[in-house]
Amino acid sequence: MLILLYPMPETVILPVCKIVSLFSNLTIIESMRIKITVLLCIISIAYAHAQMGEVGGKKHAAIASVEAHYPELTDLSDRIWAFEEVAFQEVKSSKALADYAEAQGFRVTKNIGEIPTAFTAEYGSGSPVIGILGEFDALPGLSQKKVPYKAPLNEGGAGHGCGHNLFGVASLGAATAIKELIEAGELKGTVRFYGTPAEEKFFGKLWMIRAGAFDDVDVVMDWHPGAETKVGVQTGLALVDFMVEYYGQAAHASADPWNGRDASDALELYTTGINYYREHVKPTVRIHYDIQRAGDVVNVVPDYARIWTRVRDGSRKGMQKVWKQVEKIAEGAAMMANVDYKITLISGVHETLVNRTGAEALQRNLELLGPITYTEEEQAYARKIQEATGKPQVGLDSEIRPLEETWEMPRGGSTDVGDVSYVVPVIRMRCTTAPKDTPWHSWAVVACGGMSIGHKGMAQAAKALSMTMVDLYENPELRAAVKAEFKERKGDYEYKGMVPDGQPPVGN
Ligand SMILES: [Zn+2]
Repeated sequence: MLILLYPMPETVILPVCKIVSLFSNLTIIESMRIKITVLLCIISIAYAHAQMGEVGGKKHAAIASVEAHYPELTDLSDRIWAFEEVAFQEVKSSKALADYAEAQGFRVTKNIGEIPTAFTAEYGSGSPVIGILGEFDALPGLSQKKVPYKAPLNEGGAGHGCGHNLFGVASLGAATAIKELIEAGELKGTVRFYGTPAEEKFFGKLWMIRAGAFDDVDVVMDWHPGAETKVGVQTGLALVDFMVEYYGQAAHASADPWNGRDASDALELYTTGINYYREHVKPTVRIHYDIQRAGDVVNVVPDYARIWTRVRDGSRKGMQKVWKQVEKIAEGAAMMANVDYKITLISGVHETLVNRTGAEALQRNLELLGPITYTEEEQAYARKIQEATGKPQVGLDSEIRPLEETWEMPRGGSTDVGDVSYVVPVIRMRCTTAPKDTPWHSWAVVACGGMSIGHKGMAQAAKALSMTMVDLYENPELRAAVKAEFKERKGDYEYKGMVPDGQPPVGN
């Protein structure tokens, strides 16, 4: 409802007065009732303005920009949803976003960090430089139609099971709103959209950071699709990915097995070691693996085996300790099986440094916006998804959550936004784009990301992010306080990305 009240009073009051005059032939009681309603609306507008402070007009303009571009933004998001391109292969998705930015007047720089699908789109000049992150990669195997039950669009194809089609577009929508304010002379400085590929695998932002893409930016905004709407004040988990390979000696599995040294034996001993070790790690630790090769045929002793391993913990420090022990287990397994081994770092990410000062500003703007409203059809669609995934059929929840405490024991996933947060302050939020309790990285997220439920979350995020960016441009004290908190949390740690030397693993 509040969204309807956002246009500037002078642009609202006059049309409202005209509407009131249309009712002049109604009964006195009806006319009075309408006039009282209009008066309440005007009071609400004034209240909203007072809440937004002096920069209120600029925030109204940012919201109006997102609404004006809504048809283009939904079209762009739906196209990326249908491209369903996975990590480092997001050629069409990246181009669609970059083309849109260019058409809006942004200066686009491609191939950031030697990644063909990484780009920046910039507008304006000078300080401050406010950035915003936009992801757009899909997940393998999650192809799904826009229906509330499991039905692949392309059998075996990829799908936007993390909602990144919405992520990139909402952020570009927010950047466009700021660009228009800079263009109109209302804001001063630079806005920069970061097109950040391969978040789901390899973590593309690591190479963008290594290339210095974040060196001159003051503050970065970020969001993520979700099943609820709240400002991000949790840290996430640090992780490392590495490949363990075993090299043995092939032999006939029955005629002369004594001539064989079995690489897959080592792999089995390695996973057994990991699974015994699980009992002795802290509750924040996660260890996962993906067996990629372990022999090809049953009558040959395998001379090669390969396993992708991932170790996570609440902090990089804790993760490193577990990482070392898992590498020792890999070595021990090689000794037991009498084979050679090799460990290769793929990449790793830091936990996220929260910024509560920035989070408070974002919280205020989300509260000004109020929750998203849904149609009965959208709620019914959501309940069907909940039925299909065995969840309580409560529909969608877009209530603005109060600002949470930052938990000491982080839960959940990891993101390469963590690394950005060690280079520059990052302000984050999550916005409802799927039903409550939806299993994430699943068909259910894809089913919502390509239709109005996802679109509404995308617009809501774009509005809240651009409103907070207005605050950052207009309020140097806020920027300084955000930076001060960043410095304090980072301490004297010197950031170094967990990436191997050489080119990013594009094409793998
Ligand atoms: Zn994601």
